Amino acid sequence: MRKTKIVCTLGPATDSPEMLAALIAAGANVFRLNMSHGAHDWVRAVVPRIREAARQSKANVAIMMDTQGPAIRTGDLATKLDLKPGDIVEFTVRGARSEEEYSVDVNYDGLIDDISEGDVVMVDNGNIHMKVLGKKDNRIRCEVLTQGVLGSRRHINLPGVKVNLPPLTAKDLKDMAVGAEMEVDYFALSFCREKSDVEAMRAEIQRLGSEAKIIAKIEDQHAVKYVKDIISAADAVMVARGDLGIECPMEELPIIQRRIVKSCIRVGKPVIVATHMLESMITNPLPTRAEITDVANAIYEQADAIMLSGETSVGKYPVQCVETFDRVARRIERSGGAGFAREAVVDGPRQKTVAAAVSLANSFPQSKIVVFTQHGNMARYVAHLRPLHATIYAFSPHENVVRQLALPYGVFAQRMGFQEDPAKNVFEAEAALLLKGLVESGDHLVVVTDIVEGDRRHESVQLRIVP
Ligand code: PGA
Ligand code: MN
Repeated sequence: MRKTKIVCTLGPATDSPEMLAALIAAGANVFRLNMSHGAHDWVRAVVPRIREAARQSKANVAIMMDTQGPAIRTGDLATKLDLKPGDIVEFTVRGARSEEEYSVDVNYDGLIDDISEGDVVMVDNGNIHMKVLGKKDNRIRCEVLTQGVLGSRRHINLPGVKVNLPPLTAKDLKDMAVGAEMEVDYFALSFCREKSDVEAMRAEIQRLGSEAKIIAKIEDQHAVKYVKDIISAADAVMVARGDLGIECPMEELPIIQRRIVKSCIRVGKPVIVATHMLESMITNPLPTRAEITDVANAIYEQADAIMLSGETSVGKYPVQCVETFDRVARRIERSGGAGFAREAVVDGPRQKTVAAAVSLANSFPQSKIVVFTQHGNMARYVAHLRPLHATIYAFSPHENVVRQLALPYGVFAQRMGFQEDPAKNVFEAEAALLLKGLVESGDHLVVVTDIVEGDRRHESVQLRIVP
């Protein structure tokens, strides 16, 4: 079984029931709804469709709503601007009007204060570079340096500048309300800059009465600087290489990725490596060798999940992309991994019990780990330690916990009502795994469970051989 999980961004190429079923069959574990593009009606239509596709395929999938966050964006344009080097473009704020042939307004008034003459502005995911010639009367005059076509609502990056927008914009708050209503399993926090941004999202989730967990996206220099605090405040982390590669010197990107993955594995927070993993497959049926090697690297680092963006939202070969991830993951996992979990921080009696279970499982080549978990913590502790070969079978009575466990490394979760007597749960779990063909006679099952003795409960690790 593949341990590295696959996140697929949905869009017009993949939001039909047929395509959702095909992506699930190919191995998708988490579906991402990108709120920089998705409308509320679309979310309300697509979430039930995902749940239904998962039910029919008997698959466990989670849904992530990815907020737009405090991103600087250009406004709507009636016609796209076809820009060539040397052209003049004006960005306007506070409703200013431009006399230039090419101009567009920007959602962030502070832009005019944050940039200076001579700065290079990166527009449309870094595709179009412009140099600031001057600014006056709420207009920023720029010269185009690299050719490109500018459409509506494109992203502007200002490397090294801390943008003075709130962590959750008015749009994010409205989007989150719909996410809570539709019971999404994760909210991704875009342009998270520090710990307090995560806390702001946590407060909003509580206010909305949602059970969703938070994925902090690391996408600029400020977040990289405070990454340790962000990791400890968040439930999971995304290495958002699209923006990181613009906001930071690009040769730093592999180092930043490895540092974040390593830090997350150290403290046991699920980590996703995202963006441009199979970019060429947006238009081509086969990936490049370099892409395969990049994907393999993230798998070798033992990231919990790897992510597809445009490849599955608008690409021509979405199912082939998931198949490619799946193939590469299975092969690379067999070859071993970086082993960052050797430095995992194991604190407290429950985590130490889990560590004993993982060590026991590692000593048998044909072992599986069975774990019972109310809130998902015990299962996450097992995943944290990256068992060498054992698959992690997690059982929880809560549907939302089961779904959230679609993300962590190597965890296969299923719902099971718990009985008062833990021994009965173990018996039932073993029977369910046998029935599904997930374990076979002779397998070593390492079971992490409570045992009851009068009115006392103890954590225990059992070794069982499947009869
Ligand atoms: P985005 O985030 O796709 O929402 O921009 C991911 C990234 O920046 O890599
Ligand atoms: Mn981004």
